[in-house]
Amino acid sequence: MLDATSDHHRQVEFNSEKILASTFESGPIRPPSEGGSHSLLLRTTRNCPWNRCKFCYGIIYNRAIFERRSVDDIKKDIDSIKTISDEITSVSTQLGYKGKVTRDVGITMVNLAPRLNTSQNFLMVLNWLMFGGKTAFLQDANSLNMKTNSIVAVLNYLKKNCPTLDRITSYARSRTLDRKTFEELSEIRKAGLTRLHVGLETGDDELLKYMDKGVTSDQHVDACRKAKQAGFELSVYVMIDLGGRGMSDQHAANTARVLNKIDPDFIRLRPFALGPDLPVFEDYEKGVFRLSSPHQRLEELKNIVSSLTITGRMCFDHFLNCWYTDSSRRTTLFKQDYEGYKFPEQKNLVLELIEKGLQSDESVHMHVQEIIGMKNL
Ligand code: SF4
Repeated sequence: MLDATSDHHRQVEFNSEKILASTFESGPIRPPSEGGSHSLLLRTTRNCPWNRCKFCYGIIYNRAIFERRSVDDIKKDIDSIKTISDEITSVSTQLGYKGKVTRDVGITMVNLAPRLNTSQNFLMVLNWLMFGGKTAFLQDANSLNMKTNSIVAVLNYLKKNCPTLDRITSYARSRTLDRKTFEELSEIRKAGLTRLHVGLETGDDELLKYMDKGVTSDQHVDACRKAKQAGFELSVYVMIDLGGRGMSDQHAANTARVLNKIDPDFIRLRPFALGPDLPVFEDYEKGVFRLSSPHQRLEELKNIVSSLTITGRMCFDHFLNCWYTDSSRRTTLFKQDYEGYKFPEQKNLVLELIEKGLQSDESVHMHVQEIIGMKNL
């Protein structure tokens, strides 16, 4: 919400009813880096087509059935975005900002039409334009599941109507990428999709099977390499402690092996958080699955990092990377920005930070059970 103030009333004209009538759909989540980039969220599909991974279970999407939206419906959403965008830009011009969208533009509009402050669609487009209108994220969990000609049609329409976009990204399952041909992926890339976010989680086949990820390590490698060759910037997610105590060594060794084969542009670390609604919780209660402590998690990370020969970046851009420099817990051990640490140049720095974290008393760091509020895990 904008903090509107009464001293900003100006003589500008815009059609607030038209803005409020211009609606578009958004899904529940996007990668944190897309929030940091103030991405426009465009929902091309709904929910997850798999819903089975034991560490996720599609709960964030309420386990709802996957749906592909029609190209016509998505185009209507893009039309709405353009309508809102045009009205905002026109106010900017009237205020003398020459089309540049500033906070003052938003405040002026909200002062004149307070209902705009409750429109999530208006606020999203405003925020997106305030940061240059540069990036968009296609929701939900696996937009690459769309037919190739449909996703190309959506991308062409989006780029035509939102010409300031220079980065368009999406989540994609490896299994789905594996099924697309190189030519199809190249066509999608050329139409304007620039970055893919892929949930690798682990490179260990036994763990992939146990977690019901629906993909093998070879398929991960083939799919991700094909996407890179097609020109995509590749961001992969790795879950520290996904195998708990029992599979830590094999998780680390095989994840490093697979990462080295893929050489992604970004590795984004997402330490595993257990929850009572997850299928793996049953195994936890039986004692089959045992969570690692903060130091044990760092040891696992050390095993992965020390084997890496990659040339991309490793990022700790999530609050679950909850290792700290001291007991005040004001500063995280690893910086949590979206660009992270460049390998191989900063590999030793990451290893030094891991050692520093291991030398601190373990209570300095946060155990995952503290985060999820389950003291007796
Ligand atoms: S594919 Fe992704 S969203 Fe779907 S269940 Fe697995 S981790 Fe969750």
